[in-house]
Amino acid sequence: MRTNATGRVLHDPKGGSFRFDAGALCLDFAHTGGEGQYAIFETLHEPADLGEWLAQPPLAAVMTVPVTAHELTTAKTLRQAIWDAAHARAERRPLHAGTVAIINRIAAAAPLIPALAADATTAGWAPPVRATQALSTLAREMIELLSGPLSERIRECASDNCPLVFVDTSRPGARRWCAMERCGNRHKLRALRARQATVS
Ligand SMILES: [Zn+2]
Repeated sequence: MRTNATGRVLHDPKGGSFRFDAGALCLDFAHTGGEGQYAIFETLHEPADLGEWLAQPPLAAVMTVPVTAHELTTAKTLRQAIWDAAHARAERRPLHAGTVAIINRIAAAAPLIPALAADATTAGWAPPVRATQALSTLAREMIELLSGPLSERIRECASDNCPLVFVDTSRPGARRWCAMERCGNRHKLRALRARQATVS
């Protein structure tokens, strides 16, 4: 069942990894790979890879029906649409009609259905659990995000060459970096060197 904990470990193709919390599960999903220049970051190679991603917390949607090749294609279409929509909103650009249509189309499928366990203190997803439903749940979350109060908190990492996008859910709303351990520290280091250069 959903918890509020978002974030995943991202791997750099050159080696190395860091924890990135996009602030919303749909935005975390947008960072599972991509097209073109982002194809090297692909993590969803096979339908089963999508099933594994969805089975992890906080969604914890363990598929009871194996993910199909068609669902994997739909997942990548949704992922691109979420990515495009998030960047458009971060840059205060209008969203493309096609992007909106994709998110709406995938959200129109039946979502995951919550179900209380027999002890009535925990919950999971009512079977059958299919990827199509999980994708609908992600698309619906993106609709809520874009149309809700946190929409204005969707930002790109402040680093010049970092395309990662997140929603700042912190109370002060001053988040600038994808991850402190990645771009934040690099920035601090550069600022420190610049200060030292001025002093010496
Ligand atoms: Zn960054």
